[in-house]
Amino acid sequence: QSHQHKDLFPVMEKVSQFYQQQLRVNPQAKRAIQYLKDRGLSGEIAKQYAIGYAPEQWHALIKLADQPHQQKLEKDLVETGMLIEKENGQTYDRFRDRIMFPIRNRRGQVIGFGGRIIDKGEPKYLNSPETPLFHKSKELYGLYEMRHQLRSIDQIIIVEGYMDVVALAQFGIFNAVATLGTATTSDHLQTLFRLCPKIIFCFDGDRAGKAAALRALNHALPLIKDTREIRLMFLPDGEDPDSLVRKIGAAEFIQRSDQAKTLFDYLIEYLQSQVDMNTFEGPAQLVHLAKPYLQSIHDQVLKVRFEASLAKLSGLDPAQLKQILQSEVTATP
Ligand code: ATP
Ligand code: MN
Ligand code: MN
Ligand code: MN
Repeated sequence: QSHQHKDLFPVMEKVSQFYQQQLRVNPQAKRAIQYLKDRGLSGEIAKQYAIGYAPEQWHALIKLADQPHQQKLEKDLVETGMLIEKENGQTYDRFRDRIMFPIRNRRGQVIGFGGRIIDKGEPKYLNSPETPLFHKSKELYGLYEMRHQLRSIDQIIIVEGYMDVVALAQFGIFNAVATLGTATTSDHLQTLFRLCPKIIFCFDGDRAGKAAALRALNHALPLIKDTREIRLMFLPDGEDPDSLVRKIGAAEFIQRSDQAKTLFDYLIEYLQSQVDMNTFEGPAQLVHLAKPYLQSIHDQVLKVRFEASLAKLSGLDPAQLKQILQSEVTATP
């Protein structure tokens, strides 16, 4: 990070403090507080995640500096994405009348925000754009708060949204982090594996969730080692971690996460679901389909184990299988 970017951290901290203070004192924020309460959040958790309120004004943030310093502040706020600059050079607050979730980097510095509309409306969430401080594909919401709260981390749950992280925390489950409206990337996984060897993906039970699981699989396979564990947890259709934990409670949620499928069980189940093993061609198709996945595994022990499973599933003896895997030209279906 360059020298100039460092100047932006105090600006973001100031904005975050302002939004938090607005939640407490601005009469407009009453609806926001009621909404958070209705969703089961306590003041304590709101404070822990520094949840705030962006007032319904076009020019609130610029007033955070005295007149002589407003020009510099305006420039910094544009650079951090907190102000939007029009063609004519005029600026206005990006976030208005929203519940604000600050996003922190690993050191706890505020680098961006997610803003939720109060109750219904579009867009439901507004996120900070990519800025010199904020890179969506690298950052995870709740990571700093998790490390702050937990002395030791034995597993990390990856969820979709801000409210999922916060609701789980409300139920005492502090080891959840959320990707920020993007798919989980290799960068995310590498960050998490530096903290602990076990990661559980939490997916919606719908089609989008299944598609997301396949994408996650592609990122995860190259990183898997016999010392690491990745599991995939599928929620009932129509539920997300927030709604589910409120329905079934923490103990049962944790029980379900413990029973989540391992990466390899999921992969094998997926491959089997894609071919009809009762046909003559089935076993060959299975091997064909499995090949790119097999190739992306770097861990030798797991590679051999997966090959052995494929041999068993396809009914080919290991030598035959090896031959087929080597000879077959990789065609993309
Ligand atoms: P809530 O429970 O408050 O409705 P959610 O977290 O369940 O929110 P989802 O619709 O499941 O919301 O979206 C998951 C995540 O995707 C959000 O937390 C947010 O990061 C991102 N997201 C959702 N909608 C938008 C949007 N319109 N623009 C940008 N990001 C969005
Ligand atoms: Mn969804
Ligand atoms: Mn939700
Ligand atoms: Mn959701």
